Amino acid sequence: MRVKLTVIGCSPAWPNPGGAQSGYLVETNGGRLLLDCGPGVLERLRARESWPDVDAVVISHFHLDHWGDLVPWIFGAAFGPGKGRAHPQLWLPPGGAGTLRSFGQRLAFGGQLDHVFELHEYGDGVTFGVGSFEVTPFRLSHYDELTFGFRVADGRRTLAYSGDSGPDANLAELARDADLFLCEATLDVTEPSAIRGHLSADEAVAAFRASGAQRLVVIHRPDELLLDEGLERAVDGLEIEL
Ligand SMILES: [Zn+2]
Repeated sequence: MRVKLTVIGCSPAWPNPGGAQSGYLVETNGGRLLLDCGPGVLERLRARESWPDVDAVVISHFHLDHWGDLVPWIFGAAFGPGKGRAHPQLWLPPGGAGTLRSFGQRLAFGGQLDHVFELHEYGDGVTFGVGSFEVTPFRLSHYDELTFGFRVADGRRTLAYSGDSGPDANLAELARDADLFLCEATLDVTEPSAIRGHLSADEAVAAFRASGAQRLVVIHRPDELLLDEGLERAVDGLEIEL
């Protein structure tokens, strides 16, 4: 099997009409990996299989649109149809285990967290393995939030996922010569230079060109914003084989 990407959800910080927020399923014979798990993602995964069977969930940062559905996931895995299933790895930014536990204390999932996921924290630029995938986190610029994008490779094919980022030289490194670059383009016009956390479409194209990647698919973009003819926009349910 080749590497297959399924866009589970690609909305920005609010949902597009009928849309789920960030969730990107990457699969091959040797593993299944979910990049981010925003609101709406678990419902979509459950429409495909009774309970998501993944080797790992990897979280880019702690803005809610990228991790919110971990909360119902934890409840469903502890008390619902996910009970008794294998425990997926949950890869979090540095310090993320403590962050998630503090949310768990307030949102009543703290007691279940470690019983349903195997928690790990990744490091900037430190490659980790999930099944046959190698995942490398790259630190990116997203306001004052500690945020990473991911380069996912299986030895033959490479996918790059920006997560959320303002202009950052690491975007081109993240996607260097990749087969596919999922790059955010949240903005209509660029933000003031002192406060950057997202890209305009032109900035996403610039990062793509600098990377040498083969194919750009724009993500995290409000449906109301136009995109130049010739640019490819993700939609929920889009499947791409690499
Ligand atoms: Zn976001």
